[in-house]
Amino acid sequence: MKAQPHTPMSLRYWGVRGSIPSPSPDTTHFGGNTSCIEMRVGNEILILDCGSGLRALGASLNDEFKTRGFNATMLISHTHWDHIQGLPFFAPAYAERNHLRIFSQAGSGTRIQKALNNQMEPMHFPVRFGDLPGVAGLDELPEEGMEFGPVSIRAMNLNHPGGCAGFRFEGGGACVAYLPDHEPYHSCTLPKKPTAEQQNDQARLVEFVRDCDVLILDTQYDEAEYPKRVGWGHGCIADSVATAVAADVRELVCFHHDPSHFDTRIGQMITRGQQLAREAESRLTVRAAREGDQWCPSAKRVATNRAAVAAR
Ligand SMILES: [Zn+2]
Ligand SMILES: [Zn+2]
Repeated sequence: MKAQPHTPMSLRYWGVRGSIPSPSPDTTHFGGNTSCIEMRVGNEILILDCGSGLRALGASLNDEFKTRGFNATMLISHTHWDHIQGLPFFAPAYAERNHLRIFSQAGSGTRIQKALNNQMEPMHFPVRFGDLPGVAGLDELPEEGMEFGPVSIRAMNLNHPGGCAGFRFEGGGACVAYLPDHEPYHSCTLPKKPTAEQQNDQARLVEFVRDCDVLILDTQYDEAEYPKRVGWGHGCIADSVATAVAADVRELVCFHHDPSHFDTRIGQMITRGQQLAREAESRLTVRAAREGDQWCPSAKRVATNRAAVAAR
C-alpha cells in the first residue's frame, strides 16, 4: 500500500505485560497491564488485543469523543485471558452510539466467540457479552487479509499453545507487525540443530515481518530463563533480535514482559538485545514496550506520554 502522508500511522501502548496484570512499585516504569495497543491511521481506530490495558484506553476514548459515537476495529490474537480480560471493563462497549467490530484470524471466530461469551457468563461477570450495545459483532479476517480504510492487515499463525495470530499492518507511511505470543520455532540458546521444518517455519515468519518499521514481538525471557521454559509458548531476547535482524526490521519492540520481571530486569534484557544487534552489525534498534509510549513514523522516535497514564 502506498504511503499516505496526510494520515500517518501512530501507536500507543496501553498494556505490555504477559500472562497476568502485574502492578508493583517495581513495574511502574514499563507498566503492569496486559496486552493492548491502540493504532490510528487517519480516522481509523484499531485496537490490538483486549488485555487489562483496554480499560484505560476506553476511558481515553470516552474523553476524546465525549457524547459523539465512534467506530473502532478490535483485533484479537487469541483467547488467553491476558488478551481478552479487559473487554468487560471497556466502557465504550456499553454505549449504543459506538460501533465496535471485533475481528479474529480466519478459522478462529467460533472459538473466540465462545471465549468472549464464557468470560462474561453470570458466574464471572454481571453483564453478558451479547448484551453489550456498542459491540457490532465478531467477524473473521479473510485468509488473504483485508483493508480497513487506509490500512491493510494480514495475519499468520504463530507458535503458541492453542494458537495465536500475528498481524502485519501497512498504511499511513509505515509497516508494523504485532506478534504478541510466540515461541521461536528453534532457539539459538538450545544446543539442538533446527530441523528442516523448523527452518521453513522460521523463514515464513521472517518473510511475514520483513522490512517492518516496527516489530512488536513476544520477548518474555532472557537467555538463561528460556531453556527452562521451552514449550511455554514465549520468546527469548536472543531469538527476537535474530528474527528482527534477519528480516531487516528497523525497530524491535520487546513485548509481553514476564510478570515476575521488574523494571531493572527488563532494562538488562534490552541492553543485551542492543549488544546483540550491534554484534550483528545491523541497523536494528531494540527497546521494550512501555505503557504510555507513543510512536509515529514521522517522529522517528518514541514519545512518552506518562501524563495520560497517571491521569487514569
Ligand atoms: Zn499472552
Ligand atoms: Zn497466550
